[in-house]
Amino acid sequence: MTFRTRFAPSPTGPLHLGHAYSALVAFDMAKAEHGQFLLRIEDTDTARARDYWESQIYDDLHWLGLSWETPVLRQSEHLQRYNLSLMQLADRGFIYPCSCRRSDIRAALSAPQEGAPLAPGVYPGTCRMRDMDSRQPGDALRMDLAKALEQMPEIRLIETGLKHAGTHTVNPAHLIQEIGDPVLGRKEIETPSYVLAAVIDDAAQEITHVVRGEDLYQTTFLQVLLQHLLDLPTPIYHHHRLIRDEAGKRLAKRDDSKAIAKYRDEGTTVADLRSLVGLPQSPDSYC
Ligand code: GLU
Repeated sequence: MTFRTRFAPSPTGPLHLGHAYSALVAFDMAKAEHGQFLLRIEDTDTARARDYWESQIYDDLHWLGLSWETPVLRQSEHLQRYNLSLMQLADRGFIYPCSCRRSDIRAALSAPQEGAPLAPGVYPGTCRMRDMDSRQPGDALRMDLAKALEQMPEIRLIETGLKHAGTHTVNPAHLIQEIGDPVLGRKEIETPSYVLAAVIDDAAQEITHVVRGEDLYQTTFLQVLLQHLLDLPTPIYHHHRLIRDEAGKRLAKRDDSKAIAKYRDEGTTVADLRSLVGLPQSPDSYC
């Protein structure tokens, strides 16, 4: 099996040190395995995605010494295939329309709830009893997680990163409490959420290893569930540590001070940047 991994940024802001770390780790792993490194532009959020940020992504990654197959997969060009999968899930009764706004969710969460307590901000299932025929323009599409989990009571994944490599499983009740019913189709426009689109493209691009930050660890279980429901293969996962700021907080897109472009403009070398994020030098990847 050829090792095939990808880096999948959203062009909604500048790439920062955390992205540089993630892309370099994936690239280095592919290189060490004599495999392939792909780039995927996750631009389904058309309200926030900008061509400007997309071209910055290419510039930043080239500067880091990375190379990838072209043409690059841009998700905005494949909306049809995400919708098809979403409708497949809907036909099987896993999807329901949801008209709740953030304020409705906050209000519902502040009322007394039955059953196990949900993690803060987790959607309480207000619209869960609705069927697809009641869908109104502007409704989001959510997955009934408990119902979907009946198809896969034990979610397993093979992890090679984090602290202990091996088979990881999740307690379904814990997933319900921590994630709740996820939005798979956004309300603003007829587009899929990241969670679904990434699953479909990881399969379409025959990704064997997903390398990404540990902030997505829990989302991975949901993605493995979606792979099972859609009959798609499950890659091996490698969740890496996050790059944090001086205060220990995870870097956000708005942390312009840590933007790769800023280091580039200030004359930082790629070797310096690798040291800064604690990665070994790999000179032949950028000479
Ligand atoms: N577009 C996602 C992000 O930037 C990609 C996550 C993933 O690697 O699956 O967080």
